[in-house]
Amino acid sequence: MSKTLDLTTTPLLREGWEEELNKMILSHYAPKWNAKIGDKITEGDYQFVKSFEKELIHAKKNGYYQTKQSILSYIEDYRLQSEFFRSRLYGLKIKDEFESIPLTTRDDLQSHITEIIPSDIDLSKMVINPTSGTTGKPILAPNHPKAIGCYVPLIEYSVEKFGVKPIHSPKSSFAIQLCYQEKTIEYATCHSLAGGAKFAKINIHPNSWNRTSDIQNFLEESSPQILTGDPYAFESTMKMGIQYRPEAIHSTALELTPALRERLTEYFQCPVINFYSLNETGPIAYSCPIHPNWMHLLPHDLYLEVLSEESGFPVPTGNIGEFVITGGRNPYLPLLRYKTGDFGEIEFGPCLCGDHFPRLRLLSGRKPVYFQKTNGETINPIDVGRILRKKPFIFQFQVEQTKRQEWECRISLESEIKNDEIYWEIEKNKLQKELEALFGEKSNVLISTNFPLDGKKQLAYINSYQIQTEANG
Ligand SMILES: [Zn+2]
Repeated sequence: MSKTLDLTTTPLLREGWEEELNKMILSHYAPKWNAKIGDKITEGDYQFVKSFEKELIHAKKNGYYQTKQSILSYIEDYRLQSEFFRSRLYGLKIKDEFESIPLTTRDDLQSHITEIIPSDIDLSKMVINPTSGTTGKPILAPNHPKAIGCYVPLIEYSVEKFGVKPIHSPKSSFAIQLCYQEKTIEYATCHSLAGGAKFAKINIHPNSWNRTSDIQNFLEESSPQILTGDPYAFESTMKMGIQYRPEAIHSTALELTPALRERLTEYFQCPVINFYSLNETGPIAYSCPIHPNWMHLLPHDLYLEVLSEESGFPVPTGNIGEFVITGGRNPYLPLLRYKTGDFGEIEFGPCLCGDHFPRLRLLSGRKPVYFQKTNGETINPIDVGRILRKKPFIFQFQVEQTKRQEWECRISLESEIKNDEIYWEIEKNKLQKELEALFGEKSNVLISTNFPLDGKKQLAYINSYQIQTEANG
């Protein structure tokens, strides 16, 4: 049998790790593994991540997050190293003209990547993960093992805020990532940055197992501290009746609605942490333990702006804008006012949970869409979301204005209420009335319940009526 871990993929491999890992990999209940992956962390990378962690803890304790002033030195550093920074900042006194710095788009990452990458950097450790957005067009985000390694202290910080104490030992499994797909890579590994603690990615689709009952046995036997995944994977886990109680659920997708969060909390009997992370930026925010609809900015080295789409200037607190990011720690992808495509609001000030970094509230859907009332007034989709979110039986939704007086409301519904026709008919009428009251006189709302809950970044709000009238006018 070939070795599961070796020094090329896991340079800091210690004695005893492989033996522990093999217990998991060769388990009678194990899934059909199809990949071998190591963390590629060298001694130098290890030191880098450890000092990043120290800075993070210090900054969190003291509420030192990046501001427009503090991020200037980062920008000036890369002005000397990256052709992209140099040309974007040409002629600008960034201290006084910060708002004049052009924004970086996803397209820039695609077409200017060779100029973005600093000129005299060693490229041999580059790792590339394709990432896709709402357009479905994949972009390539180059990364470095040490920047990927920084996910460890960031994730650990977020779970510790929820009372989970990561155990740094090869005998411990820290996390198992759940997927539900026809086909995906599945592997188990030990992480050097977590003292050799195990991490695995498994596919709970029956395709991956000898017997369906193995999934639960495998989870119990490996006994991971946390389960990670997207809402679709967790929804499938509940549907399959898999009973496992982790110390926390770490959900890595934007559209974790309060209804689904509550159901997950009840089912798994543990805290549910919403985690906001993009391939291009790394982790951005995690949900506050006290105010779960808000997420705290997580790293201390990202400067976050919330900009108005129309003016490009920061929006006043309480208003919706696009999240734009400068900074980070990926040596191959320094970010200069990078437009994430995600929208929401920001709030400053101390928080009872003890993390005094700014709080974000993400808007579902990537682009702000406004609806038009039958009398011509505009409606903020947040109001539509508020009506739908307070219904505990709605997991995901999409609302589309199709005509001046007509809306389609597509929802994915909890199966219990779906089966109870009489109760659903009553709730459906109530919902329809509430929405029609918001949209105005003579508005007509059609409700359908076949919206898929598939974990993709679905648009929550669409105004095709406006798109048509704009095209005609
Ligand atoms: Zn908080």
